[in-house]
Amino acid sequence: MASQQTADRKYVYDFTEGNKDLKDLLGGKGANLAEMTNLGLPVPPGFTITTEACQAYLATGARPAGLAEEITAHLGTLEEAMGRRLGDPADPLLVSVRSGAKFSMPGMMETVLNVGLNDSSVEGLARQAGGNHRFAWDSYRRLIQMFGKTVCDVPGEEFEHALEECKRAKGTTSDLDLDADDLRALVGTYKKIFVKHTGREFPQQPLEQLELAINAVFESWNAERAVLYRRQERIPADLGTAVNVCSMVFGNLGPDSGTGVAFTRDPASGAQGIYGDYLANAQGEDVVAGIRNTVPLQQLAELNKPAYDELLAIMARLEEHYRDLCDIEFTIERGKLWMLQTRVGKRTAAAAFVIAAQLVDEGLIDLDEALHRVNGDQLAQLMFPRFRLTDELKPMASGIGASPGAAVGKVVFDSQRAVELANARDAVILVRRETHPDDLPGMVAARGILTSRGGKTSHAAVVARGMGKTCVCGADALDVNVPERRFTVDGQTVNEGDVVSIDGTTGRIYLGEVPVWPSEVVRYFEGELAPEHSDDPLVVAVHRIMSHADARRRLGIRANADTGADAARARRFGAEGVGLCRTEHMFLGDRRELVERLILAATDADRQAALAELLPLQRSDFAEIFRAMDGQPVTVRLIDPPLHEFLPSLEELAVHVAVAHERGEDAARDEQLLSAVRRMHEQNPMLGLRGVRLGLVIPGLFAMQVRAIVEAAVECAKAGGDPKPEIMVPLVGAVQELETVRAEAEKIIADVTREQSVEVLIGTMIEVPRAALTAGQIAEAAEFFSFGTNDLTQMAWGFSRDDVEGAFFWRYLELGIFGISPFESIDADGVGRLVRIAAEEGRAARPGLKLGVCGEHGGDPESVHFFHSVGLDYVSCSPFRVPVARLEAGRAVLSSAGSDSR
Ligand code: PEP
Ligand code: MG
Repeated sequence: MASQQTADRKYVYDFTEGNKDLKDLLGGKGANLAEMTNLGLPVPPGFTITTEACQAYLATGARPAGLAEEITAHLGTLEEAMGRRLGDPADPLLVSVRSGAKFSMPGMMETVLNVGLNDSSVEGLARQAGGNHRFAWDSYRRLIQMFGKTVCDVPGEEFEHALEECKRAKGTTSDLDLDADDLRALVGTYKKIFVKHTGREFPQQPLEQLELAINAVFESWNAERAVLYRRQERIPADLGTAVNVCSMVFGNLGPDSGTGVAFTRDPASGAQGIYGDYLANAQGEDVVAGIRNTVPLQQLAELNKPAYDELLAIMARLEEHYRDLCDIEFTIERGKLWMLQTRVGKRTAAAAFVIAAQLVDEGLIDLDEALHRVNGDQLAQLMFPRFRLTDELKPMASGIGASPGAAVGKVVFDSQRAVELANARDAVILVRRETHPDDLPGMVAARGILTSRGGKTSHAAVVARGMGKTCVCGADALDVNVPERRFTVDGQTVNEGDVVSIDGTTGRIYLGEVPVWPSEVVRYFEGELAPEHSDDPLVVAVHRIMSHADARRRLGIRANADTGADAARARRFGAEGVGLCRTEHMFLGDRRELVERLILAATDADRQAALAELLPLQRSDFAEIFRAMDGQPVTVRLIDPPLHEFLPSLEELAVHVAVAHERGEDAARDEQLLSAVRRMHEQNPMLGLRGVRLGLVIPGLFAMQVRAIVEAAVECAKAGGDPKPEIMVPLVGAVQELETVRAEAEKIIADVTREQSVEVLIGTMIEVPRAALTAGQIAEAAEFFSFGTNDLTQMAWGFSRDDVEGAFFWRYLELGIFGISPFESIDADGVGRLVRIAAEEGRAARPGLKLGVCGEHGGDPESVHFFHSVGLDYVSCSPFRVPVARLEAGRAVLSSAGSDSR
C-alpha cells in the first residue's frame, strides 16, 4: 500500500515490492522478476527503476529529482542482502543493467553486464571465483565491450575485430582457448579503443559506471531500431522503458555452470512438454549470439539432476501461476539454479489456439479467457497457404501485401492469356500495372495478382480479397510492360511464362517456384474436416473457440459476395447473409456488347431494348445468390461505378481508330464508341457520374435492376424458397436522391409482387459524408443503412483510394500521422465519428433502423470492435474474412465488458 500511495514520486522498486500486474510501471521483465521473487523462486536480488523515471529523463534530458537518492538507497539494501559492495576491490558485487518495457521489444534496447568491474575489482572477482583469472578478465573485457558500445557509441566492430585478432594470433577460432593473459592483453586493447573513440579513459568508478549505464538504457528507448519496432508493432511511443539492476550470477564459471532458455510448451505447435536449450559454461549472450551450439534442455538432467528437477518444478509452478505458456531464462552458477527472467511467451498463431484450448481442458482458464487470448490476425494467418521459406531464398522485389496467401504461377500480362493458360491447367500470376473491372476473368483464372501500382483498396486488392486470392499490389520497383509481355526489376527481366511466387502477407515477390503448404483450417471451414473426427489439435481448438465466439457475439456477420458460388462459400464460413452484392461485374464479359448498346443508345427505344435483354440475365444472377443464401438477407447494391468503365480505354480506342483511318478501313462503330468514351470521360470519376447519380441520369437502368431483383425473389419464393432481398442505393448524399429512386422502386415492387408476396427492404449506403451528416433525414426514406467505409474514408480524408497508399502513405506512417492506413483500419476519431453520428441520428429518426457496414473495414479486427461499440447490427466482409469477423465480434463483447484486448 505504501508504494501505491507514493506512486507518483517513487521511482525505484525492490524486486520484493513489485508484482506481475505492475507492467506499466516496472515493465514486463521487472514486474515478472518481482512476481517470481514473491513466489519464493531463486531470483538474484535487485531493483527496478520505473518507466516514469525514464519518461521524466527523456522529457528533460536529466534524472528526475530524488531518483539518485532512491537508487543509492536501493543499492545499499542490495549490497546488504548480498554481503558485498558494488565494485569492492576485495570482494566485488557486480550488477547487470537491463531494459524492460511494458511490451516485449526483443533485442531492441540495451543491456550492460558486469557493472562494477575495474582494474582492481577484477582481481577480487578472480579470488571470488576460486582463483579463476581467466573468468575475471573475460568478464572485464565483456564489460568494456558492452559499455563502450552501448553507453559511449564506440563501434562494436572494433571490439569484435580485436577479439578476432587475438584468437588469430593464438591460432584458434574459439573464445575458450584464450587464457587469462590473452584476455588481460585484450582488455588493454579494448581500453585503447575506448580512449580513441571517447577521448577519455574507461571509467573506473563503479557508481559512475552504474549511473551511465542506467542513462544509456533510458536513452535506448529512442534508438532508431526501437522506434521502428514500436511503429511496426503499434506500441505507443511515450511508454518508456524500466531499468532492472540485478546482482550478477555467472554461468561461465566452469563445467558445473551454464545458462539456458526454455518454454513450458512448444511455442511453435503448442504441444505439451518442455522445450529449451542449454549451454554449459556460458553466459546468456553466448546463447543468443550462437557462438557455440546449445544442447537440448533434457541433457541438463545428466549434467545436474537436482538443478534440472528444480527447474522443471519451477516451470510447472510458473505455468500454473500465470495460467499460460511461459518462457524463461535461467543460469546455473556452480550447480545452483537462478531464474533471470520469465514472461508469458510469444507463440505462433497455431500454438495460440492450441494452447488456449488445452488450458481450458486443464481447468486453468475458461472459454471466455481462451477467446480473449487468440485474435483475428492469428486466425487469418492460419487460413492462408504458406511458403516453405529457407534462409537462402531472397525476394526479387516487394510490394504491399494486399490479400494474404502464397501463390505460385507463370507470369501473364492480360486477362485473356490468364484464362487461356488456366484452361490448359496452368497456374498463372496475373501481372498488371493496375487492374480494371475488365480484368476480372483473368483475376478469377489466376492463382495470384501482382500490380505495380495501387494500394490496399485499389481494384486489384479489393477484388482479390473478395475472392480470397493472393494479391501483392503497388510493387513500384516493377516496370511492367504489357505490350511486350514482360516486367523488369533492377535490370532483371521476367517474361511471360516465367514462374514467380508471391506472398500476399509480406508483399514479397520471388523469382521461381517456392513450395507451399495448404491450410487445414480452411478445409475445416469448408466442411472437409469434421472436428469431432479430427486428430489435428489445431482444427479441434479452432472449432471450440469459434463456437464460443459465435455464442458470445452480438454483431451479425454477413459477406460481400457477387455470385452464388461466393455466397455459398461465405455461408459455409459462417456468414448470415450477404451485406453487399456489387452488381457491376455482372455487366462485363459476354454482356459487354449489350452494355455498349445501352450506353450508346441513340433513342429511348434502343436503350429499352438493351435493358430488356439485360433483365433476364440479371434476374438469374440474383436468383442464384438468393438460392445460395436462402432464408438469409441479401443486400443487392444497384450499379455503382461510372459507365465509361464499361467502355474500352480512350487511348487504345483512339489509336485503333487512327490506324483504321490510315489503312482506309471502315471504323464507324469504333468512332461512335470513341466519341461516347470522350463524352463520358471525367477528370475525377470517383466523384463523378456514379451510383445513384447514374440511376437518375440513365432512364430505366435502376428500374431494370430493381425488377430483376424482385422477379428473382418471386421466382425463388414460388419454388418454395425464402428469399430476403434488400435493395441498396449507392452514393446517396441527399434524401431527395433516395426518395426519387425509392418511389420508382416501390411501384415496381408492388407490380411484381402482386401474385406472390415477398418482403423487399429498400435502404442506402452511407458513404458520402453529407449522407452521414443528414442521416436523420435520410433515414425517413431508408429501412437500412450500410456504411461504405471505403468511400467514406476517401471522401472524409480527401484521399484517392486508388492512389494514396502507394504514393505517400509511407511518409505519413513514418511521421506517425497515423499508425495504420485509414483504409485498412477505421479512423475512429474522424470517419468513425461520421459513423457514430449517422447511427445515432438515423436511429433517432427511425427506431429499429437496421445498421451494417460493408466497406473493407468490416473484416478488420480493430474496426469490428469499433462497430460493435457503435451498436451496428452487423458487419459484412469478404467471404474469407468471415471467420475473422466472427471471432473478433465475440472478442469485442469481452473487451467491452472490461478486459484489455491487446
Ligand atoms: C465502400 O465504399 O465502402 C463500398 C463498400 O463500396 P465500393 O467499395 O464498391 O465503392
Ligand atoms: Mg463505395
